[in-house]
Amino acid sequence: MADFAGKCVFVTGASRGIGAAAAREFAAAGANVVLAARKGDEIAELAGEIGAQALAIPCDVSRYWEVEAAIQAAVGTFGSLDVLVGNAGVIDPIGHLQDNDPDAWGHLIDINVKGVFHGMRAALPVMKAQGGGSILTISSGAASRPVEGWSAYCASKAAAQMLTRSLDLEERANGIRAIGLSPGTVATDMQRDIKASGINEVSQLDWSEHIPAEWPAKALVWMCSAEADDWLGGEISLRDEDIRRKVGLI
Ligand code: NAP
Repeated sequence: MADFAGKCVFVTGASRGIGAAAAREFAAAGANVVLAARKGDEIAELAGEIGAQALAIPCDVSRYWEVEAAIQAAVGTFGSLDVLVGNAGVIDPIGHLQDNDPDAWGHLIDINVKGVFHGMRAALPVMKAQGGGSILTISSGAASRPVEGWSAYCASKAAAQMLTRSLDLEERANGIRAIGLSPGTVATDMQRDIKASGINEVSQLDWSEHIPAEWPAKALVWMCSAEADDWLGGEISLRDEDIRRKVGLI
């Protein structure tokens, strides 16, 4: 495992689900963690639980100025920015393209696509000045196949995947490690919303088929090690048994 002592890991969407589990996992590995999300109370509570190595910063990733200020505050507190986990994401609006409200559709893109770009854009000058860093983004099988009722989500994950590839192309030589994580289905609030929609095959899955949020969290920690360098610019799938073994899940 990479040595996280004195390192700073910034997690977007850390108020619950995969982001909260990732913050706990990186902190357990010895990192200082910055928890960013809109719900200030929830990230403050989690930061309190983790202790002095955690900092909660309320932040809406759809607004560049908030992301930039949060990253500056992280660096001001912990002295560096070593890992950015671009995890914040939403699934709504769920529904057929013909019925989607254009503003709601656009707002998902503001969060899932522009939010990922905002994190990369704000992190790059800091990481490059210190000699490099890892930028991990949560992808999805929806990045490469359409799913009924998820046109905005699928389009956003395809775009986020291309952002990872673009970042790798432009910045690998400058020490930036860009990798996506496709976790499979994870037992979080997002899957609760999907189940409630009843609209496609994913909504019909039995809850027991979802993996716990701790699994992608452990994978994200592993992705910071040199062992994951073969996937730079690409994606790691947690459906892959070989990856599960490498991460130590089986
Ligand atoms: P979740 O439990 O609903 O958590 C989503 C997180 O994103 C929350 O912390 C939420 O915090 C944050 N968020 C949403 N909008 C935000 C905004 N504008 N600014 C800042 N933070 C925002 O979902 P999850 O399952 O953990 O999903 C995390 C990531 O994994 C997403 O990118 C999702 O697409 C991806 N993913 C999930 C699954 C799955 O099966 N669960 C599968 C594949 C990929 P606030 O509401 O406090 O802002």
